[in-house]
Amino acid sequence: MELTATPPAALRLPSLPAHLEEPGLGVLTDEPELLHELAAGVGGPYHLLFPERFDVAAAEFATAFRDAGVDGRVYFAKKSNKAACWVRRCAELGVGVDVASLGELRAALADGVRGDALVVTGPAKSEDLRRLAILQGCLLGVDALDELERVIELASGLGRARISLRCLPSREPASRFGLHETELLVALERCAQAPDAVRLEAFSFHLSGYEVAPRADLAGRLLGWCARARALGLPADAISIGGGFAVDYVDAAAWERFRTRLEPEHFHADRSFASYYPYHSPVAGARMLDAVLAATPEGEAESLATLLRRAEVALLCEPGRALLDQAGSTVFTVQGVKVRGDYGIVTVDGTSLSMSEQWFNSEFLPDPIVVPRDGRPASGSPFAACVAGASCLDCDMITWRKVTFPVRPQAGDLLVYVNTAGYQMDSNESPFHDLPLPPKIVVERRPGAARWRFDEHPGPGVRR
Ligand SMILES: *Cc1c(COP(=O)(O)O)cnc(C)c1O
Repeated sequence: MELTATPPAALRLPSLPAHLEEPGLGVLTDEPELLHELAAGVGGPYHLLFPERFDVAAAEFATAFRDAGVDGRVYFAKKSNKAACWVRRCAELGVGVDVASLGELRAALADGVRGDALVVTGPAKSEDLRRLAILQGCLLGVDALDELERVIELASGLGRARISLRCLPSREPASRFGLHETELLVALERCAQAPDAVRLEAFSFHLSGYEVAPRADLAGRLLGWCARARALGLPADAISIGGGFAVDYVDAAAWERFRTRLEPEHFHADRSFASYYPYHSPVAGARMLDAVLAATPEGEAESLATLLRRAEVALLCEPGRALLDQAGSTVFTVQGVKVRGDYGIVTVDGTSLSMSEQWFNSEFLPDPIVVPRDGRPASGSPFAACVAGASCLDCDMITWRKVTFPVRPQAGDLLVYVNTAGYQMDSNESPFHDLPLPPKIVVERRPGAARWRFDEHPGPGVRR
């Protein structure tokens, strides 16, 4: 049976249109021919990257520090996307990079970031990672007392290590990361005893969630730890508040409608998810940094910015997702559409491995966009459908939610998932079924630059 009329499901489903801004995702609606040309040339799904958008976000973070009169440093959390283009922009813009593995550290150095602009975070590290970090003068995050001993030992042969101590936040007592306060005291004593091996420069944390107040509170508390460390003669002139700067994907009203009207029947197979990323955030990106700096930490009478200035302590931050807002999209080609009752199943030429949210038992929600081929109009009768991957697994769904498309997708149309650069694209990709992995294509409008090019880091198994 062919469905020609509007399927009834389409009439009831709340939509979640994604924000599209220039420079960045705006290109998608302007240049459908380019998108089809690339799909034909690549012969499979691909990711688009817009480094100009990264520049905008990085400048906003720098401005937030400048406006607050705070000495601040931004480190891009590299794990959020593997492409080389971001790290290359960091090297040129003077933005630092946060790495957590030997591979990430090597890639950042190879793409031009200097060792002293790198922070090395993550849990207990490999000896090779610590060795390279010490030799390159990176700020090495120490996560445990035994790691501090390993660093002191290693540094005795290699030269002095710049270190930060990661703190276990009292609001996340079950976290496996960081040192609790009794351990911090021991760590300070050890640093004071080994001044030739380690230079304690900072205290750090990384909180889950996207709230302002807990970050300002903990930063305020760590100012006390800076004072304690300084009393022992240690430099301790920086605090890192980690990442977790929110991204605003959809507007407030759409998000509210989605959350309040959520029904199992809005999903294929009545699938339900325990939780979602907060796709709408009124205070996002660098505006969230403004808010952290302006907040009064618990037990204090002045703003965090004022307290930092007075103590002459710098604030470091490690945004990943927020620096990639509006900086990338993922493009699939529709292979077919079948009808299941009052909605359709659109199957595309890639898998949910290229949309990582599925692998965290959740789903990436902003509505994908249909870019019809052959100049067919992009709207007509609305059509409700979920989106499936090309693999043989029933669970390989890219979107379980029934999305209302403004037109019925057809084979050869493109389906674009927008704003996927932050964590969606490549954390989980693998060449399952020997399906081609999506290459990353950098699109820029700079005069003199190629309109598009392959990213310099294709990634293992990527055909290009
Ligand atoms: C993942 C991570 C970040 C980046 O988090 P975002 O939510 O992408 O901003 C920063 N710092 C540390 C230590 C991390 O583990």
